[in-house]
Order: sequence, then C-alpha cells, then structure tokens
Amino acid sequence: MPARCYHTGHNMRPAILNPLFAEVAALKGVGSAQVRQLARLKIERAVDLAFHLPTMVIDRLALDRVDETMVGRPIVVPLTPARHDRGGPRSPLRVAAVDRGGQWVDLTFFGQSATWAQTKLPIGVEKRIVGKLDRYGQKLQIAHPEVMAMDGAAPPPLREPVYPLTEGVTNRRMTQLVTEALARVPTLAEWIEPSVLAKYDWPGFAEALKAAHRCEGGRDRLAYDELLANQLALLLVRMDTRARRGRALAGDGRLVDPLRAGLPWALTAAQTRVIGEITGDMAQNQPMLRLLQGDVGSGKTLVGLIAMLTAVEAGTQAALLAPTEILARQHHATLTKMAAGLPVRIELLTGRDKGKAREALLADLAEGRIDILVGTHAIFQDAVTYHDLGLVVVDEQHRFGVAQRLMLAQKGRVPPHVLAMTATPIPRSLALTRFGEMDQSQIDERPPGRQPIETRVTAQARVEDVIAGLARHVENGGQAYWVCPLVDGTEDEDEAAATTRAAFLKVRLGADKVGLVHGKMKAPDKDAVMAEFAAGRLAVLVATTVIEVGVDVPNATLMIIEAAERFGLAQLHQLRGRVGRGSGHSVCLLLRGDELSETARSRLKLMRETNDGFRIAEEDLKLRGSGEILGTRQSGEEAFRFADPERVQTFVAMARDDARLLIDRDGGLDGARGQAARVLLYLFERDAGVALLRSG
Ligand code: ADP
Ligand code: MG
Repeated sequence: MPARCYHTGHNMRPAILNPLFAEVAALKGVGSAQVRQLARLKIERAVDLAFHLPTMVIDRLALDRVDETMVGRPIVVPLTPARHDRGGPRSPLRVAAVDRGGQWVDLTFFGQSATWAQTKLPIGVEKRIVGKLDRYGQKLQIAHPEVMAMDGAAPPPLREPVYPLTEGVTNRRMTQLVTEALARVPTLAEWIEPSVLAKYDWPGFAEALKAAHRCEGGRDRLAYDELLANQLALLLVRMDTRARRGRALAGDGRLVDPLRAGLPWALTAAQTRVIGEITGDMAQNQPMLRLLQGDVGSGKTLVGLIAMLTAVEAGTQAALLAPTEILARQHHATLTKMAAGLPVRIELLTGRDKGKAREALLADLAEGRIDILVGTHAIFQDAVTYHDLGLVVVDEQHRFGVAQRLMLAQKGRVPPHVLAMTATPIPRSLALTRFGEMDQSQIDERPPGRQPIETRVTAQARVEDVIAGLARHVENGGQAYWVCPLVDGTEDEDEAAATTRAAFLKVRLGADKVGLVHGKMKAPDKDAVMAEFAAGRLAVLVATTVIEVGVDVPNATLMIIEAAERFGLAQLHQLRGRVGRGSGHSVCLLLRGDELSETARSRLKLMRETNDGFRIAEEDLKLRGSGEILGTRQSGEEAFRFADPERVQTFVAMARDDARLLIDRDGGLDGARGQAARVLLYLFERDAGVALLRSG
C-alpha cells in the first residue's frame, strides 16, 4: 500500500494549492529525461520538490588569503597556479598554487590529465577556487576543488544547501528546481492553535519551509504540521466510524462459559480485564474500534476467540483476518481445537479454495450456517457475503493500514465491531500516529509458569560449537529454529543463504531432521514444511524471516539467529517470541559478526538484558533515532516526511490535543481555523479525512 493511503483524488483540492501540486514537467527546463531522473527520488510534483529538504548546508568563507586556522572549512579563495605535477598512475594530479599573501596550497585531482590542468589552471592565471581546505602532511591542500574564472560567471553562493541527489541532477540544478517549487508555495491561513505557535515562536508554514531549506530551523514546525494532519485524519476517521449506527452485541454465556470452564488454566488478570473492555464496547450500539496490544505469547488468541464467541452468542457471525495464509491456517487449527465440543462452526477460507467446495462454503456463509470465518484478505472480497457479520478481528494489525480499517467499517449493512490485535510492541507516541483513531487495550502480563527466555550472544566464528549444541538438543528430543541472515539485497540471496545453511545442517544432523522455509516458496510447500515441524517430524526448521509472526510450536525451545546484528530489535524480539511458548526452559542464541558498530553492540546487549517488548521498542526508538521501526517497511504505512521518531515523541500528544480542540470547538472544521486545517489535510494528502467530512 502506498504511503499516501488517504488519497482519494484531486478534484476537491483547494485551488490555492494547485500550482504546488503541478507535475514537475511544468517547471522551467524540465524535460522527459529529467522527469524520469526526479522520479527516482519519488519527486513527481512541485510539492515533492518543496518537501525535498537538504541534508546540510555548506557555509563557505570568502577569503583573500588562507592559513592554518581555516583547515576543515569550505572556502572560496583566489589562487594562482605556479606548477603542475602530473602524478603517477596511482597518485593524483597536483597543482601547486599560491594565494595573494604568498601562502602555498596544493590542489589535487584524481583522474584528470595534465592537458586538462593546462587549460583549466594555466600557470600564472589567478582563479577562484571553491572547496574544503585540508592539511596533507605539512602542506595545505584542497582536494577536487571547483575552479572558476575570476571575472566570468557569478561567484558560488556562500551558503549552499546540499540535497539528496540522483544521477543526472546536480546539486545546483536541484537547488534551482527547489527554488522554483518554493515560489509556488502560497501564503496559507494559519492552522496551528495560537498558543502552540506562541509557545515555540514558530513562523508561518511557508516561511518555516523556506527556513528548513536553509537549514535554519523550521523543521519542528513542519513535523508538527505533519503530525497535526495525521491526527486530524485519524480523528475524522474515528468520528465517521463512531457516527455510524452499530449494533449492540451482548452474549448470554452459552459458548463462553463452557469454553472458560474447560480451559486447563485460569485467564490472567490482564486477559480478564481486556475481555471486559472488549465486551463492554461490543455491548454499545456504535461500532467498536479497539486495538489490543500484547507481547508475543501473552495470550491474545484466546481473547480474540472469546470476543468472537460473544458475537456468535448474540446471533451474529465473526471473522478473523490474518496477514498470511500460514497464519490463517494456524489460527483456524488453534480455534477449532480450543472450541472443540462447542456448537460453533469455524471455517477457513483462503485464496486457494476453488470450485464446488468454495461455492458451498460461500453459500453456507451467506445463509448463516458458518459462525466464524478465518482467512486472509480473501474473506473480504466482494464475492464473499456474510449473513450477518457482527465482529471482525484483525490479527497483526500493523500490516493493515487505516484505509483498510475504514473499508472494514463500511462493510455490510450495519458496520461490524472491529478488534485489532498486535504483538508488535509500539511506543505510545508511535501508537498514536498509527492507531490514533482506536481505543487501546493492553495485555501487560504473561501467563504464569512461563520461564523467561535466556538470550545469549555468540560470535559467528563459533558456529561449529553452536551446531554441536544443536545436535545434542535434537538428540534429546528438542526442536529448534534456525533463522538465516537478511542479506542486504534480493530475496534470492536470502534464499541462497538459507538453502546453504539447511544443506549443511542436513549433513550434520541427518537429512530427515531438517526442513527449510523461505519467502520465495509457494504457500502450499511452505505450509507442508511448517506442518511437519509442528507435528514434531522435523527437529530443525531453517528459515528466513517468514517465521516472524505467529507460528506456535511449544516444543521448540531453541532459537538460533545468524547475523543477528542485521535484524531490527523489534524483529529480533518477534523471532525470539517463537520460543518460550511452553513450560520448558528456552534459549535464544544470537550469532554476531566480528565487526559490530556501537549501536549494534548496544542492541544485542539490550536483547540479552530484557524480554520486555515495550522496553525494547522504546530503546529501539532511541538507539535508531530514525524510522524503520516495527514493520513499517512491510506496510509502507504512515511514512512521515518530517516527523522523525524524536519529533513524534516530542509533538504527537500536543498535535492530538490540538486536533481534538479544532474538531470539538469548530464542530467539524467549519470555522476559520478549521478551513485552514482542511488545506493542511490536502497539503499532506490526508484528503480522505476531508472527504469523509463532506459525505458524512
Ligand atoms: P499471542 O497470540 O498473544 O502471541 P497466544 O494466544 O498464541 O499468544 O498464546 C500463547 C500460548 O499461551 C498459547 O499456547 C495459549 O494456549 C497459552 N495461554 C493463553 N492464555 C493462557 C493463560 N491464561 N494461562 C496459560 N497459558 C495461556
Ligand atoms: Mg498470536
């Protein structure tokens, strides 16, 4: 799903924004070749240029003379070449030059010929030299300077922003394009609450954007604007959903009571609490929008089942939406087992079901003979009709965007209650930006009797010892996962690494003991291997990250992760959560390469220190200092341009309050500030928020 998930079309965009949203082809001197070049940077419209911020600004000193004290600074200085040293095949061309006070500076160039030097830097002719002054041994030097005539063209700007570039677009060209795009930014009415504006002394939007291009502040305000747009859109989605009339579903206990009585253990206090929150919502006649967070192994599946049985007791159907087919199958098997003996019919629908069997299943669903349907997104295709859908449970929420959530809410005559479940711990600040329209429940407790997973870090070089340990584990009847590194590059390489490792382990442990799954396998083949492992017929499952979410094999108590430093913390935590699901002592072995960055070291240390997913998520955010947390990569959801995690933490709560205030006080964005905020939504392409408002 594209990042602009609220995009509903251009027709309602305020006219004042049109020049800014023009295609780049409309800019001066942009032909089709340049359009293609810019597209590589995802720059397609003037607004993309205006939002394309520099990474830094070069601040040059304009000098007559140079001296030691300026080493390290970018400078512009007139120098006169005095001698050319051609240099050898491996040493650079060197031009000895002198400033107006007699100070020598070497100008060095790799890959330039002496002939080039004679035309470009003739001896005795003073030139304007632009570059960074360095020291090389005893001498001053400038490597690869820009050489300009003293008279000729205008001198280079003293302050020059440095933009992320792509082949064919120089920094000067980019600067030109950005300048032209910035000229298209209109003066807009203020949408930020005056007290917030005053508190930070922020300039207006256009001015902030220009300042950001000069690296003179402005970014905080832009981040705030972006978060405000995000929060407004989420609130509008929430208002829209909650304004629909839902259906109060109250259970009579005929399914849930026997289920609970038959459990071999008691519900945890946290499970009981969240079940109360969920059934409380379901008993209201407006649709539930609730996110259930709980670390891996905290027992969310049972909570989901109880919610679904409650919907069935109330005479409706329930659906469980899983992100992958493997998980859908596993959920179906687990639910069927848990609900064994209860008068409920639970079925599985995947994209693979075809022909007569599928038709029969769909007919049963449409006529209400199926109580609970489990599947991937296939269960919401148009061809699938429910008799009366009362509740949708979405597992692993982070793979579904807010747009899909909205689609769910609009399915059926009466919108169903929606319960989203995620095992991915999310710091509170990020949860607000992603799930801000939902109420939150948390299972902050693990079932009793679970031993903490012991995590060890071992050098990759000791892989032989690790394999020997694995062999003993297997001889004693244990099962293990072996996760292969994410190679920076293609799926082919991931697959190759895993295939090689599996072949190697087969030689050491026996061919019939080792199975392999990777992302490029067909779903039925993957499922078959997983099933063998789950049934205990395979002792070791070698995998790329396809096992990341959800598989449940309590007998597997050893997890080995190769090149662990290449995984994100959240991902490591998810992988580790595959073990420690039974009562046995579980171990997670993180194999690391030799050369670790400081950050990588800290991350592995943190993994060793704690099993607490929320702490890991918070620390991850700090260590990283930038995006790519928690599966954003997969979903592409909510990629912010300006709001980096640090700014999200600082500003999101305020943006949320601000959005609330705007909507509550303005009763739907109709006041002056509300009108301005509509423009903001379009500017950051949260147009669906406004679209909802109009249709509602
Ligand atoms: P999650 O989906 O939150 O990762 P699961 O629902 O898969 O966790 O539960 C993990 C394991 O814990 C399952 O085998 C489940 O049967 C078991 N379990 C769930 N609730 C409890 C409980 N209250 N006490 C003991 N075990 C439980
Ligand atoms: Mg689960």
